[in-house]
Amino acid sequence: MNANLFARFNIVFAAHAAEACMRLPDGTAWTFDDLQHATGRMAAALREEGVGPGDRVVVQVSKTPDAIALYLATLQVGGVYVPLNTDYTGSEVAYFLRDAEPSLFVVGVGSKTGVTTLTLDEYGEGSLKDLASSVDPDRHVAERRSEDLAAILYTSGTTGRSKGAMLTHGNLTSNADTLITYWGWRPDDVLLHALPIYHVHGLFVATHCVLLTGSSMIFLPRFDVDALVQHLPSSTVLMGVPTFYTRLLGSVLFTREVTAGIRLFVSGSAPLTEQTFEAFEQRTGHRILERYGMSETGMNTSNPLHGKRTAGTVGFPLPGIEARITNEAGGSLPPGEIGGIEVRGPNVFAGYWRMPEKTRDEFRDDGYFKTGDMGIVDAEGRYTIVGREKDLVISGGLNVYPKEIELLIDAIPGVIESAVIGVPHPDFGEAVIAVVVSDIDIELDDVTVVLTSKLARFKQPKRLLRVDELPRNAMGKVQKNTLRDLCADRFSWDTQNSEGAV
Ligand code: AMP
Repeated sequence: MNANLFARFNIVFAAHAAEACMRLPDGTAWTFDDLQHATGRMAAALREEGVGPGDRVVVQVSKTPDAIALYLATLQVGGVYVPLNTDYTGSEVAYFLRDAEPSLFVVGVGSKTGVTTLTLDEYGEGSLKDLASSVDPDRHVAERRSEDLAAILYTSGTTGRSKGAMLTHGNLTSNADTLITYWGWRPDDVLLHALPIYHVHGLFVATHCVLLTGSSMIFLPRFDVDALVQHLPSSTVLMGVPTFYTRLLGSVLFTREVTAGIRLFVSGSAPLTEQTFEAFEQRTGHRILERYGMSETGMNTSNPLHGKRTAGTVGFPLPGIEARITNEAGGSLPPGEIGGIEVRGPNVFAGYWRMPEKTRDEFRDDGYFKTGDMGIVDAEGRYTIVGREKDLVISGGLNVYPKEIELLIDAIPGVIESAVIGVPHPDFGEAVIAVVVSDIDIELDDVTVVLTSKLARFKQPKRLLRVDELPRNAMGKVQKNTLRDLCADRFSWDTQNSEGAV
């Protein structure tokens, strides 16, 4: 049997041919037949460009239905889809092109690179769209095994070289099937799609659920609060990052009525605070379902569809996926102890592209993948993430988990949010700094007063920095590296205990 994920899509496209698949903000829609047609033409154009099984197609384009067709066409011809964040600059892109060695690079509008490059968002010379419109749709679906590569996702890699996570047809198919069942996906679901499509969340989780069930999506080019408020009443599911939810809560137009027809709000890619979870429930009556995943694995854990969704936790391992908490040596830790989160299952990637040593380092002998996240599991098997391993602060030889401190600071009235980081310190190796966004004129002493009775002294921040907002990437992840750079020299300065706003 052909394990090409596109073969699965093809069956659904034929069965739902006349139904709407993507509704666009201008009121037009693509049916499944339109999508199958556009994909077939794009596949023919790719074949004409010499793209075949195993060939990489690197893509840096804006979010349009054509971009979805290009993704599907790459799968159809057996190619390997390599999406790039649209924010990447020329020199970053040059690295990905050298590393991925694609047969084809597709960009939004023309640009010069060393490899064969076509454009997607314009017509004329060098336009993939032009080429696709001049050929007959190709119906042939390349034969692929489940272990063959379907995509490479470059991790956002804040340190060192960005690594390409190799995902197979088997990885993508199994994770999509699992989520569709676990989240009770229905053919009449309407997904409000406002995530970028160069990332696992928007490209795989969101899109696959729709395309494998013959449901539909309202396909927005980007996140915009007003657009979401406008389209929520005609949707049934929203998948978002935590910033979607905090921004929605910031709008007076976002009311209980607007969300009345929604059956599921999903959050992931970054931690959803308990405050946001609770404020959301108060405003709308909905309890957001938080799940946890990553480029290398797709989704690993989820709060339940039915049953208790617990704020601040990422729920249970998904069916067919095993998870455990370990110490550095790889020994399993009992419930209640903090350690590294490891996962194993059909969702786990095939390794890092052309990095066999790095791949070996990140896998245990028994097949578990070290996610690099630190967490804790409770007696019922529910997981909570306490942060990335690299964000762990080691002060005076003792481990400090930022999340523990952030939760306490966030609970101080007037504090909007906080990020706790470690920076070099002459005595302690690293010292804790709290970066705080607040409505009030908060000082280090105010925080110390609150934390003294709750936290050991070595965990208490030695400096406090007020900022207007925390630096975040498009997926809502706080960029702690940026904060660490900003604060790197704090302890070589001859300053008071507390710093003012920056
Ligand atoms: P990416 O590969 O860009 O999707 O990033 C994956 C990382 O995002 C994970 O390893 C986690 O550190 C983080 N992440 C994803 N989902 C959550 C969540 N629900 N809560 C906290 N962190 C998350």
